[in-house]
Amino acid sequence: MERIYFTTPIYYVNAEPHLGHTYTTVVADTLKRYYNSIGYETFFLTGTDEHGDKIAQAAEASGTDPKSYVDRISNLFRTTWDNCGIAYDHFIRTTDNYHKEFVQKILQKIYDAGDIYFGEYGGFYCYGCERFYTEKELVDGKCPDHQTVPDYISEKNYFFRMSKYQQPLIETIWSKPDLIRPERYRTEVLAFLREPLEDLCISRPTSRLQWGIPLPFDANYVTYVWFDALLNYVSALEYRGGDSVQSFWPKAQHLIAKDILKPHAIYWPTMLMAAGLPLYDHLNVHGYWVMDSAKMSKSLGNVVRPLEMKERFKGMDPFRYFLLREMAFGQDAKFSDQALVMRINADLANNLGNFVSRVLAMQEKYFAGAVQPIGANWAAEDSQLRGKFAQAEDELTGHMAELQFHRALEAIWSALDHANRYIVQTAPYTLIKDPGKQARVGEVLHHLLEVIRTLSRLLAPFLPDTARELRGMLALPQGQEALFAPWGQGFQPGHKINGPKILFPRLEALPDPLEVKINNES
Ligand SMILES: [Zn+2]
Repeated sequence: MERIYFTTPIYYVNAEPHLGHTYTTVVADTLKRYYNSIGYETFFLTGTDEHGDKIAQAAEASGTDPKSYVDRISNLFRTTWDNCGIAYDHFIRTTDNYHKEFVQKILQKIYDAGDIYFGEYGGFYCYGCERFYTEKELVDGKCPDHQTVPDYISEKNYFFRMSKYQQPLIETIWSKPDLIRPERYRTEVLAFLREPLEDLCISRPTSRLQWGIPLPFDANYVTYVWFDALLNYVSALEYRGGDSVQSFWPKAQHLIAKDILKPHAIYWPTMLMAAGLPLYDHLNVHGYWVMDSAKMSKSLGNVVRPLEMKERFKGMDPFRYFLLREMAFGQDAKFSDQALVMRINADLANNLGNFVSRVLAMQEKYFAGAVQPIGANWAAEDSQLRGKFAQAEDELTGHMAELQFHRALEAIWSALDHANRYIVQTAPYTLIKDPGKQARVGEVLHHLLEVIRTLSRLLAPFLPDTARELRGMLALPQGQEALFAPWGQGFQPGHKINGPKILFPRLEALPDPLEVKINNES
């Protein structure tokens, strides 16, 4: 069985799960479900990034020790994904012992090979933030958080000889044009690589930071950020055991937002080269969710909580649908409550939901739910309907390979539009009044039930709960077999379907918080 591996970033535990995290995680979940459905063996990794000075400070500020602090937030991520029905295979924490051991093993290997050296590190240090700033990060020469002029300090640290791998990295990116995708991010990385690459500072002295993985070759230092964080993608596979590293790692598909492009496109491949490991298969980079209304706080994205969405929409699927349908992977997309509600009402409640309940209601009313036979000679419109769904599935295959989820969903909805026209065209509700046309009505409805059965298969990666409900309404067994039977052979003679249920209740948009405030003031 062919293998494929999907990863989200490990999320930094200084914030609770929000819109950005949810999008990346839903995308990975959708891909995993899709590749499972076409016969791949998949592995899906997510987790939390738990070391560093920001965490140590946040723990201190909340009056607790770092381990208790990260236990709490990490658990919050894990239970959120569990409650959202995210089908991850492993949840990694960078404080896990197997991960720490793996990081130390790789650091020692690269140190022994001579690609880690001891040197002088200088930079603008803000004592308030307890971190170095690059000149670019400073605003008018001041710390953007504290508005104070940072001190220039220098200290001894360990460096990874990243510069040595600049040319091999450029050659790799040229030889594999879709290593980093979409194209715009590859272009961005190649532009960055036109400047000489500096070596990477990878340590902090324990006199300043203890909350990290000790360097195996110098107990006075902990490793800082890059080796600790990025190696999770491989340490989790080694922990999984067997030939996981050999078979899954070269098939790795990273999913990230564009803010962490540089570490994943530059630091990480050079680290892999130094460690003698193959590169990942693809780095897939998505854009940001931008808050649409200027009246709303820019930080609203940080307060869009996945579990609140799930509760509001009586399930995770409507929110998943919006995320996957609204963003073109790679580009920024707008988020607003109005857009969310419009999408759910138009595409899910009015289109999909109405279609399903209409078909099932007719089936129940005209034939007491019993599926009627279809003859050997199909009417032209019946063949067209089947053809339209075959075409949608073909298109979907191409779009999924390119991570164009919105196009994949468009293809399904275009076939659904055709199915709605087919109802108007064949008019079973009129034909049923003619006693000589009963058999034709039975055929038409049989084709429409095939539409619902096909939808339950095609939608499963995107809307897993809805797909399950559709199968339930059709009274189909949950296994794959009933789903993959050819059109016209999905139902046993005399099969009885269950009645319709409301899949997606219509919604009202939430009032704009600022307008409410103005009204209350007046
Ligand atoms: Zn500061």
